[in-house]
Amino acid sequence: MSTQTVKAPQAHHESMFEAVLARLDAAAKIMNLSDEVALVLKNPSKQVKVSLPVMMDSGKIQVFEGYRTVHSTHLGPSKGGIRYAMDVNSDEVMALAAWMSFKCAVANLPYGGAKGGIKLDPRSHSVGELERISRAYAVAMKDVFGVNKDIPAPDMGTSGREMAWILDEFNKNTGEDSPGVITGKPVAVGGSLGRDAATGRGVMVNALAALKKMGLVPTAVTAVVQGFGNVGSHAARLLSEKGVKIVGIGDHSASFYNEKGIDVAAAIEYASKNDRNLRGFTGATEIKNSELLISKCDILVPAALQNVINEENAPHIQAKLIVEGANGPTTPEADPILNSKKIICIPDILANAGGVTVSYFEWVQNKAGYYWTEQEVNERHDLKMDIAFEAVWHNASFYKTSMRIAAYITALQKLEQGVKLKGAY
Ligand code: NAD
Repeated sequence: MSTQTVKAPQAHHESMFEAVLARLDAAAKIMNLSDEVALVLKNPSKQVKVSLPVMMDSGKIQVFEGYRTVHSTHLGPSKGGIRYAMDVNSDEVMALAAWMSFKCAVANLPYGGAKGGIKLDPRSHSVGELERISRAYAVAMKDVFGVNKDIPAPDMGTSGREMAWILDEFNKNTGEDSPGVITGKPVAVGGSLGRDAATGRGVMVNALAALKKMGLVPTAVTAVVQGFGNVGSHAARLLSEKGVKIVGIGDHSASFYNEKGIDVAAAIEYASKNDRNLRGFTGATEIKNSELLISKCDILVPAALQNVINEENAPHIQAKLIVEGANGPTTPEADPILNSKKIICIPDILANAGGVTVSYFEWVQNKAGYYWTEQEVNERHDLKMDIAFEAVWHNASFYKTSMRIAAYITALQKLEQGVKLKGAY
């Protein structure tokens, strides 16, 4: 988790949920999805907004807005993270919840999709305040969450620490020990080995699978990674361990480029000692943040914010392959530009599905009360990601479309079955 306060750029679509619907419509048209199924999936099944009055350290009460949207439960209980950020709002949560439904379907997980968040800037609160806010949110959502109902996890601005508080508060309120009600927990309280690095690992597995299709070998390519939090730092580390030369990294505080390659382990160590910021790192030349995404590389991994690849910078992107670690980093307006430049883009709902895949493994382990080794987790993760990648690649060539639309088609094929088989009232 980072403590960044930077706001995400805005897309031309007024609403992020509309941007999701634009992709859903494009995929639905190509695969001939029934209007009824599309209608069901365009309407999230549950939206909850709560007010959380919490005592600040100053002795004054502050009220926070909390959200949870369950988009669908057609393929299983809903699953999705909790985000702490100032730009959390009902539209964003709705879009992220829908993406979770598609992501779980693409990754073949027995889950629907959900997302939650609290509108706050984590940097401006003490640990004690964050704990009280998290506990208040858990109580307010105790009828929404459930081990077989709706299972949250970390997202931007939250980590295992918040998951442990929310689990503890949920358990106190229900009077039962239900570790599987939340994933992304610290290992000591029922988390899974390998969960921390899982999203970055999924990015690496997808990048390697795409390189193979492109006839490229990891040791002959370079990569730039935007975002150096959970997803970006693990993705950079794992790619470099596979021989990819990481030439650019950046976070909200600074960006760096070194054509000879950046020592990723040194950058991780530097950030860990520098309040998780890269500012001041000396292993590369500092460049402007706006230059990072358009700098020379073969693989570009946006792993920070939404809407960072847009119609302004898309024409200048030099990478051959984009692997979306972040949720929604590319605007719908940028898609056709990337397609016309023949840049292969592995979309978020496939590329960053490694996190929810290992969250699923955590939930399975919690239910069984039996825990796997890290090697078992990683092997099962890699297999699931490879299968998901192949399914999407197949649909891209079968329907002669981009990997993004093919990923939506792959998800919609599964969701369509769920909606039709479960039926309506
Ligand atoms: P994080 O909070 O750990 O890290 C975010 C990183 O982005 C930080 O390094 C921060 O400095 C950087 N950043 C913020 N603003 C920036 C800017 N303007 N320019 C450059 N960098 C900036 O978050 P995370 O968990 O790594 O999540 C990153 C993205 O990945 C989000 O879109 C999230 O929804 C998505 N994601 C995360 C997971 C997960 O398991 N953590 C899973 C799937 C998707």
